[in-house]
Amino acid sequence: MYTFDYARPESLKDVATALRKQGEAKLLAGGQSLVQALRLRLAHPPALVDLQAIPELRGIAVANNVVSVGAMTRHAEVAASREIQRAIPALAKLAAGIGDRQVRNQGTIGGSLANADPGADYPAAVLGLGANIVTNKREIPADKFFLGLFETALKPGELIVRVDFPLPLRAGYAKFRNPASRFALVGVFVCDTTSGVRVAVTGAGPCVFRAKRMEKVLAKDFTPQAVEKIVLPAEGLNTDIHAQADYRAHLVTVMAQRAVEAAAKL
Ligand SMILES: Cc1cc2nc3c(=O)[nH]c(=O)nc-3n(C[C@H](O)[C@H](O)[C@H](O)COP(=O)(O)OP(=O)(O)OC[C@H]3O[C@@H](n4cnc5c(N)ncnc54)[C@H](O)[C@@H]3O)c2cc1C
Repeated sequence: MYTFDYARPESLKDVATALRKQGEAKLLAGGQSLVQALRLRLAHPPALVDLQAIPELRGIAVANNVVSVGAMTRHAEVAASREIQRAIPALAKLAAGIGDRQVRNQGTIGGSLANADPGADYPAAVLGLGANIVTNKREIPADKFFLGLFETALKPGELIVRVDFPLPLRAGYAKFRNPASRFALVGVFVCDTTSGVRVAVTGAGPCVFRAKRMEKVLAKDFTPQAVEKIVLPAEGLNTDIHAQADYRAHLVTVMAQRAVEAAAKL
């Protein structure tokens, strides 16, 4: 690990000041990805700006058919939230399936989204539910947020403040997890809304994406059988030591069926 300065501001204004002082500084949330990168010397920022002490970044609220989750909310808090379990049970279930107990007690929704790991779970819920990512500068619709492998629409100096999830009619998530890390080899989030069906796939490509063919058929027939025969082309999907692209394409179909089944049970 290289040496770095450390700041622990207590307001969003002070974060902006700290970032202005150190242009290349990195925001520190739960540290579950960033600290690994520091230890492996893959990242060497001159300073870390710790977001722990900022009250505006915490908390869960449900109002006007929107569930708002502060960026520093831990996965374990989302999983245990009675409000989220009632409003969007699939979101609470997804959070409960992230990593292990330690990761869930440290990792945050803001850190997960900003990191945009191709196998992360939250991006599937955010894209599937058509959420808005609220930053200190603007609101970014989920459809415009995820740009590629570990790449998002966030600009330098921009931080996620909260995520606003509109309430769906019903939603479900299913993932085929890596047995060691529990990241998604493939995860599929399906969501039925008054304006149509959304299907978001994580783990299969460089970043989360929508499966539009599945959305079209599910809008007419929201059953697992409707997507049974839809197999995504393997071209462009991830191949790594864990799974090849054609296996991941197969998993997308299976996980989509399971996600629809889970949603239909609600
Ligand atoms: C062993 C292990 C298993 C895991 N398994 C899973 C899994 O099954 N599913 C899954 O989805 N994830 C998994 N994770 C990832 C974990 O869930 C964390 O969410 C993720 O590492 C990042 O969140 P964090 O809060 O730790 O962010 P950090 O590591 O602190 O930060 C990550 C990045 O986001 C930036 N950042 C942090 N907060 C903000 C913000 N508010 N605004 C803008 N940028 C910000 C940081 O500068 C950094 O670049 C796993 C991690 C580990 C170590």
